[in-house]
Amino acid sequence: CGIVGFIGQRDSKEVLLTGLEKLEYRGYDSAGIAVLNEDGMNIFKVKGRIAVLREKVDASVMANVGIGHTRWATHGEPSEENAHPHQSASERFTLVHNGVIENYYEIRDEYLQGVTLKSETDTEIVVQLIELMYKETNDVLEAFRKGLSLLKGSYAIALIDQQNPDVIYVAKNKSPLLIGLGEDFNVVASDAMATLRETDRYVEIEDKEIVLVKKDSVEIQKLDGAKVEREAYVAEIDA
Ligand code: GLU
Repeated sequence: CGIVGFIGQRDSKEVLLTGLEKLEYRGYDSAGIAVLNEDGMNIFKVKGRIAVLREKVDASVMANVGIGHTRWATHGEPSEENAHPHQSASERFTLVHNGVIENYYEIRDEYLQGVTLKSETDTEIVVQLIELMYKETNDVLEAFRKGLSLLKGSYAIALIDQQNPDVIYVAKNKSPLLIGLGEDFNVVASDAMATLRETDRYVEIEDKEIVLVKKDSVEIQKLDGAKVEREAYVAEIDA
């Protein structure tokens, strides 16, 4: 299982699909991508191989920002409905997640009684929780932080706000996650293997950090908002 993200000056689909193919070795049962353009969020998901996802993706949809996922099901059977990306009730927020949210029943029962869930995954409660926090705070970054601070378990998360194509919100706890640095673009990946074709410069993300990934900047923060400075390293693996 793995996640990948792209934001930059060119079409994101090929980077996402190639990245997911490079992550196939980690094992998975389903896969999907979401790409955002002027027409809105475009989501393609399948049960099965990346080759099948590739066939399903509409080649005419162009978008400068997107996220992708290979799923190894832990909560909910492998199916198209349970495949990531998952969306919030209003469809404003779209998210991919690797890992396991251990307190997802508790969060559902305490915060999400009023929300009709569309899947059986622990992941969907994360995106629904962030939307709920957004309704309370009217601030996406604050909602992201507040939602994450309630989670117990492991996660590598990438989230896109339909109303802001200029940033991918990223977070990590106990699941692998890297940010790859490019010229006029940046990428997100579980493993540098996924995006070595794009760049060999990576920044490691530590547990309980969040990252605002834009096409020309990467800003790392602690969950409490404190800024973090970290140097990039050069990945020395053969693509
Ligand atoms: N727990 C999530 C699910 O079952 C994510 C699994 C994964 O890491 O692929 O959908």
